Amino acid sequence: MSVQEELALQKLSLKMFDCYRPARASADMVAWSRDGRETAASKRYNPAFSKADLFRLGYIAQYSGHSTGSALDLSLVNLRDDNPATFDPQKTYGDCTANVNLRAPDGSIDMGTGYDCSDVKSHTSAKSITSSQREWRQKLVQVMARRGFVNYSKEWWHFSLPGVGRQAYDFPIQKRN
Ligand SMILES: [Zn+2]
Repeated sequence: MSVQEELALQKLSLKMFDCYRPARASADMVAWSRDGRETAASKRYNPAFSKADLFRLGYIAQYSGHSTGSALDLSLVNLRDDNPATFDPQKTYGDCTANVNLRAPDGSIDMGTGYDCSDVKSHTSAKSITSSQREWRQKLVQVMARRGFVNYSKEWWHFSLPGVGRQAYDFPIQKRN
């Protein structure tokens, strides 16, 4: 049974945020982290750290597993909930560590931080989250682990499959016609 089939029995689903990422995109992220510019929009994703620290602290990698195809960023969706997740570009949202009602909506289960949040609160076993958020993280980790996927301890959403994807690829993703 696949991860998605197991979750469907519980009226849950995976939500994929990111999967394969061309090497040039990983290089862009490293360059972005080193360009010294901090904007309010990007600060939402690293409220406690300066951009320049993200690389050193392990939130941005020069050689990303995403470029080999072995890494995935995902969360859980509760199919019983109404998940409209309408992002309003006019609205000012709280940072990625804020209460779920203040963060930019993404329609997934509240894991205590938004996706791609470079913060200690994103560490999978962070102490500063609620018991419910902790249980959801553990559920995601467990269901993925049953299919061999390993969680990255600093990002509750990042998983990789050991033993695959040694080579990094750089082909861009083309829009389907
Ligand atoms: Zn990732």
